[in-house]
Amino acid sequence: MNYHQLTQTDRENLRSFISDPERFITEPTTHWDHDQFRTVTALPDLVIQPVNNDEVSKVVKYASDNHIPLVPRGNSTGLMGANLSVDGGISLDMVKMNKVLEYDPDSLTMTVQAGIRLKDIEEYLSDKPFTYMPAPAMHWATIGGNVSTNAGGLKAIKYGVTREHIRELKVVLTDGKLYKFGSKAVKSSSGYSLKDLLIGAEGTLGVITEVTLRLYPNPRKTINAIIPFPTLNDAIKSVPAILASGVVPTTVEFMGRKVIDLWEKYANDQFPIKDGDGFIILGLDSFTEEEWKAELEQALSVVKEFKAKEALVLGADSDEAKKIWKCREELLLAIQKSTPKMDEIDICVPINHIPEVLDRIEELEKELKIRIPNFGHAGDGNLHIYLCSDEMTDEQYAETSNKVISELYKTAKALDGNMSGEHGIGYARANYYEEFYGHDYTEMLRKIKTLFDPNDVINPGKIFEMK
Ligand SMILES: Cc1cc2nc3c(=O)[nH]c(=O)nc-3n(C[C@H](O)[C@H](O)[C@H](O)COP(=O)(O)OP(=O)(O)OC[C@H]3O[C@@H](n4cnc5c(N)ncnc54)[C@H](O)[C@@H]3O)c2cc1C
Repeated sequence: MNYHQLTQTDRENLRSFISDPERFITEPTTHWDHDQFRTVTALPDLVIQPVNNDEVSKVVKYASDNHIPLVPRGNSTGLMGANLSVDGGISLDMVKMNKVLEYDPDSLTMTVQAGIRLKDIEEYLSDKPFTYMPAPAMHWATIGGNVSTNAGGLKAIKYGVTREHIRELKVVLTDGKLYKFGSKAVKSSSGYSLKDLLIGAEGTLGVITEVTLRLYPNPRKTINAIIPFPTLNDAIKSVPAILASGVVPTTVEFMGRKVIDLWEKYANDQFPIKDGDGFIILGLDSFTEEEWKAELEQALSVVKEFKAKEALVLGADSDEAKKIWKCREELLLAIQKSTPKMDEIDICVPINHIPEVLDRIEELEKELKIRIPNFGHAGDGNLHIYLCSDEMTDEQYAETSNKVISELYKTAKALDGNMSGEHGIGYARANYYEEFYGHDYTEMLRKIKTLFDPNDVINPGKIFEMK
């Protein structure tokens, strides 16, 4: 696609929409050229940091009318190059739209601007009886980024992912109008849900400016059980049995000794359990003590059949529990630190098929001589699989990682899984999309994209190729 190159006149026109020159950055630095993985880098021609809906509307309309690419950007903690200005143009950096607009405990909602970070929402709610439940591990991400990737979190089994916690969005589309998608009402049987279409759209359909979140009362009791097993496979195999037994955990995470060793080195710390090679972290919350005790007893009796060793049971506020969660949340960074270059596969398969994926990973490690550490959400089938470059040259790494990526996508497709469970497709994987989901399905998405964005200016080149 040939886009219009920004001229001095465009810059002056766009500048007139923004009240403060400090938020109009004409010489972007490398701060704006990468996301967390740096697998793709690209510098925008201009960065604009809006603070209100009106500024967003004017900039988006101008970009669309003048055929200038515009890429919404959260806090750039994404992993698939989704927020990069690969065609140049404007990076619309949302981090200064970071206010809480309304706290409404009576409707169990709060409304925020899209650039607020999860960490700030958590701080805002810390002295209130409510919480925003999804719990993605990256607290620096913005809520707009989370909505746009439909971020998953550690509590997906019991409470669902970001989608289940969004009541309403305010969105600027390419005509420059501000639309309200959804409402504070709990239910809707009122036609197509455009709110749900925008969730997970990775900024390709419009710019989200405000988000109304569903709040939950803080659970009264929260505990974690860390269950060691002789192997990771034993650990994973126990999960469908735990879930089928009637226990509804908030969390079931898996990790193996290999990634824990990397974390110990990264954090210069010790994981509290020495015994076992595979671990399940089980989280339970409840209204009463009796409830979680009964669920825990049930889960621990089920896992015996899978050679489970003695579990460590911890109150959520204990120092050991905090350390275990810190370890889980830092695993990605620990693996990243262990290798010069890293890429990720984030496939999601039906929970009973995780062992097949782990077997295929082991085969590929041997066959292609590449280290592929992994961990993930055993309770929802979403694996985080990392391709480490180690001693390889850039060419060897590019060739080997491409083979691993296509092989594991074939595995996920054969198991009726998805390409990404929570990190998105972005730019890095857009070229695999049509092969995974098929021509007719991708054509349907292209028609939707064209309806929302006829000039293909909003985050072009992401999720799937337009052709
Ligand atoms: C250590 C670590 C742990 C992580 N853990 C998790 C996890 O547990 N679960 C998970 O899901 N992800 C996780 N991630 C990935 C990342 O945090 C998420 O993808 C997050 O949603 C990105 O948010 P962001 O604000 O950084 O957005 P960015 O990375 O800046 O952008 C992501 C996408 O959102 C779009 N976007 C951003 N804001 C808007 C807006 N206002 N309107 C329209 N589009 C917008 C961008 O165009 C882009 O397509 C982790 C990342 C790291 C580094």
